[in-house]
Amino acid sequence: MTGKILIVEDEEKLASLLNDYLRQAGFETSWLSNGLDVAPWVRDQNPDLILLDLMLPGRDGLEICKEVRSFSTVPIIMTTARVEEIDRLLGLELGADDYICKPFSPREVVARVKAVLRRTDGGATIKADGLVLDELRLRAVLNEQDLELTAVEFKLLQFLAANQGRIYGRQQLMDRIYSDERVVSDRTIDSHIKKLRKKIALASPNEEYIHSVYGVGYKFER
Ligand code: CA
Repeated sequence: MTGKILIVEDEEKLASLLNDYLRQAGFETSWLSNGLDVAPWVRDQNPDLILLDLMLPGRDGLEICKEVRSFSTVPIIMTTARVEEIDRLLGLELGADDYICKPFSPREVVARVKAVLRRTDGGATIKADGLVLDELRLRAVLNEQDLELTAVEFKLLQFLAANQGRIYGRQQLMDRIYSDERVVSDRTIDSHIKKLRKKIALASPNEEYIHSVYGVGYKFER
């Protein structure tokens, strides 16, 4: 697997360790240690994935994640030294693709990087009966109305719409949205689906797109 990975990490030793392992695995790497440099760099260099430390000088990982998400869907893996932080981060719906707790083994990080890249690969614009999903801008337009979805809602809709008519259980959807299922409950998916449906209903009051299948899960169908 190849790709350009941006390592954002202020601990130089850790950054250099990650750097070595990722390069050995065949990736190109770049390293930034100051949070203020990240968004401009990402705009300019267009990396394939960002490994983003939460606690950074200049600007913290939270703000960086939000800022990058305002213009890019580049996969982001957040790293934090506190496991309890991860729950809070998930609740904030930052749009990060995965979370890794420190201390981690560089081997584990490489595995997660590969997993996220496989999962997020090949996203294109989907068009289906009045619905346009623009992955680069994380923008879903239905009947010419912007649904203003969060990154998680977008990913859910994108996945379901790309597999029209197929029924997915909550667990399957969670696996799609988060690779670290330990920290997410079933109810998270229900609540995302609920919000997503509400937004769809605003643009399409007479037609449902996402259907619940009792006792099984959800499907996208017109
Ligand atoms: Ca740090």
